[in-house]
Amino acid sequence: MHRQPHLDAFVNGSVCGSCNSGWMSELETRVDPIFQKLTTGTDIRDLAQNEIDTLARWTGKTAIVLGYVLPVAAVVPSFIRKSFLPTYAAPPHLRVF
Ligand SMILES: [Zn+2]
Repeated sequence: MHRQPHLDAFVNGSVCGSCNSGWMSELETRVDPIFQKLTTGTDIRDLAQNEIDTLARWTGKTAIVLGYVLPVAAVVPSFIRKSFLPTYAAPPHLRVF
């Protein structure tokens, strides 16, 4: 049987308020115009490098957060989660298959 999580489950208690209203919110704001482009005919190959970086970072962040609301949690290790923080020196360490 396939079960979808109820929308309330997407309020993720594992994300602290500071991150949620800070860098995660900023990332959501930065990715919006990119989604606007992609849903109005812009080919992904025509995005600028910084837009691709933002889209990749948002995809990774969203996959990590959603991993907590799956029926069986798929928790990404801490050292990878920390690489998504804006203060982390190197790009995030995550591959999405
Ligand atoms: Zn936090």
